[in-house]
Amino acid sequence: MNIIPIGIWGGYPKANSSTSSFLVEEDGFHLLIDCGSGVLSSLQNYISIEKLDAVIITHYHHDHIADVGPLQFAKLIQNQLASNAKTLAIYADEQDLGYETLTYKNHTNAYPLQSSQRIGPFSIDTTLTNHPVRCLALRLKSKEKSVVFTADTGWQASLIPFCKNADLLVSEANLYQSFEGKISGHMSGRQAGELAAAAQAGQLILTHLPHFGELSDLVLEAKSEYKKDVSLAEVGKVYRI
Ligand SMILES: [Zn+2]
Repeated sequence: MNIIPIGIWGGYPKANSSTSSFLVEEDGFHLLIDCGSGVLSSLQNYISIEKLDAVIITHYHHDHIADVGPLQFAKLIQNQLASNAKTLAIYADEQDLGYETLTYKNHTNAYPLQSSQRIGPFSIDTTLTNHPVRCLALRLKSKEKSVVFTADTGWQASLIPFCKNADLLVSEANLYQSFEGKISGHMSGRQAGELAAAAQAGQLILTHLPHFGELSDLVLEAKSEYKKDVSLAEVGKVYRI
């Protein structure tokens, strides 16, 4: 399984960049996780849009859905040019008004994201996170390897069993340690490290990064709790598990 960061920012993208998003590849199947601001542009550095097989939206905040509309227009244009139209599947939590906007004519179609299901080669489990709106963390498994995406979340102990023994933990780290207890709905680098250590994850990468401070401090915070491999997610790098 290959995991490629498409964007790493929380809230909004820095110049020529995009908000937190990941492309996951296995056996020629291409799954995009979240489609926020700048993602559609960045994605095309790594894959053409017509090769996308499915999309998962973790929740309906702007920095996770802003480019869904442009993605639907891209599919519209591709389908107008192609001899046979292909509908792109978008999986998301159906308990939200935003769910209906994910279906666009016969170009994209919304499917409910269940607590457990199969999408392409992946067995996927989800769990609700600690966030101001309903948000789903994802655990993808294929060929005995697993990766967990925390999506957006504040600390919650129930994430520990959900992340247990994941080969790769992709955790949000939107805060520095000094903000713990002051801002809800997001974790610090230290808390991401605490989660990785408690779950005995094989490797930790940090995403949904803040726009201020020294990002390397997030890694130092995580390393204070977790003694294995920690790094900031690097756009375009292929993480193979
Ligand atoms: Zn959010």
